[in-house]
Amino acid sequence: MWEEDGQAGMSRGWDREIGRPGSRTMASQQTSPRPDELEFGGPLGTAAMLLLLPVVLFHLLLTCHSGPCSLLSLPSELPPVSAFWSPWALLLLLLWLGLQATLYLLPMGKVSEGMMLKDKSHLQYPINGFWCLGLTALLVGLGLVGGLPLGSLSELLLPLASAATVTAFILSLFLYLKSFTVPPSALAPGGNSGNIIYDFFLGRELNPRFGSFDLKYFCELRPGMIGWALINLALLLREAEHREGWPSLAMGLVNAFQLLYVVDALWNEEAVLTTMDIIHDGFGFMLAFGDLAWVPFIYSLQAQFLLNHPQSLELPVAGAICLLFAIGYFIFRGSNTQKNTFRRDPSDPSVAGLETIPTATGKRLLVSGWWGMVRHPNYLGDLIMALAWSLPCGVTHLLPYFYIVYFTILLVHREDRDERQCLQKYGLAWREYCARVPYRIVPYVY
Ligand code: NDP
Repeated sequence: MWEEDGQAGMSRGWDREIGRPGSRTMASQQTSPRPDELEFGGPLGTAAMLLLLPVVLFHLLLTCHSGPCSLLSLPSELPPVSAFWSPWALLLLLLWLGLQATLYLLPMGKVSEGMMLKDKSHLQYPINGFWCLGLTALLVGLGLVGGLPLGSLSELLLPLASAATVTAFILSLFLYLKSFTVPPSALAPGGNSGNIIYDFFLGRELNPRFGSFDLKYFCELRPGMIGWALINLALLLREAEHREGWPSLAMGLVNAFQLLYVVDALWNEEAVLTTMDIIHDGFGFMLAFGDLAWVPFIYSLQAQFLLNHPQSLELPVAGAICLLFAIGYFIFRGSNTQKNTFRRDPSDPSVAGLETIPTATGKRLLVSGWWGMVRHPNYLGDLIMALAWSLPCGVTHLLPYFYIVYFTILLVHREDRDERQCLQKYGLAWREYCARVPYRIVPYVY
């Protein structure tokens, strides 16, 4: 089903083609990263991020709900501490996690095999995220018909974000402690440096599980992503109540674009099994906080902004924004599908005619089609979509553009991490690819 195992291929490619001491062969056998392999600024950088990420989250939430909504100044008046915490919000979050976990366990959809692990085994993953989204939508729809006041969720965002942050910290602590009960072969290549803070942040164990329940895979696309769409819907409903029944065009566009993004991610859920998050990164605070707190509350900032700072949008402008989104989606989906199809079955007629570079691992690298244009066309598409769903918020405030600034930094950094890993895996073949496709994300720019 899969071409060749990433880990095994990794060692052979690097060893044969470059053969330096301390090569990936040794790295994949050793259980901890070398000091020069530490990421995110090592222990100091990750300690700073442990503090800064929650601070930024709450700063943005408070700013978005303040009158001036100025990203660069502190809100003039801080709400009382009680505004940050509500047992009801915690209960709601736990019910939400419980609902998504129950749906995850339902025998719907197919079961797929993940990439080969260090011990040569494969894990099984339920590909039922799209069904879970459908069932959640059905439950929410029935609730709305029955009078569920979903719009009220928009008043609970602050305590919900606190509950999600606390949950992410507790989960990460649990994951950190649990990782000491598993064999070294179950550890992630990067998250076991021996430094408590660094490992707590990066995550020590690669695939923490309870039986067949995979905690990282569960959190990756379900509670946070579906939660993001739900929060957006609540904000739209609240806005519609303010506007005598109809949401604004701007709010409608933001909701539609972001819902399409979430639906697309869950429809193509199997593709997540080949991403860096699943095959390389451990499950620690970085992913737990990102999935449970950052995604639902930061990614919904545009809709939160529109509820508090209504914007009017002319139809021709809305049309141009839709066109921009369609271009971004076309690049994003086209490039991701092309690579996934190629990795699964290089003889598939849709990719069989593309030019490729052989590597010593047996895998080939695409050097024409989307992947011959830039080295990360999927990131380019993603960034264009991010711009398109920020534009309905107008150009009077910076806050709705926080996402695209943050996302650019994330993707540039992620691209750099991926390139280093690809160089280790493919050695000279990767260098040849870089020479033939010189731009990383934006043609002729970067
Ligand atoms: P990619 O899907 O881009 O995968 C990178 C891998 O693709 C490489 O490690 C390599 O793996 C393979 N590859 C690279 N170049 C080639 C080539 N020329 N030919 C064939 N294979 C190649 O990585 P991500 O997991 O970072 O991104 C997946 C999607 O998720 C993207 O669209 C991204 O924009 C999106 N994303 C969204 C986020 C969000 O918060 N909204 C956050 C992060 C990502 P190998 O050779 O081993 O197969």
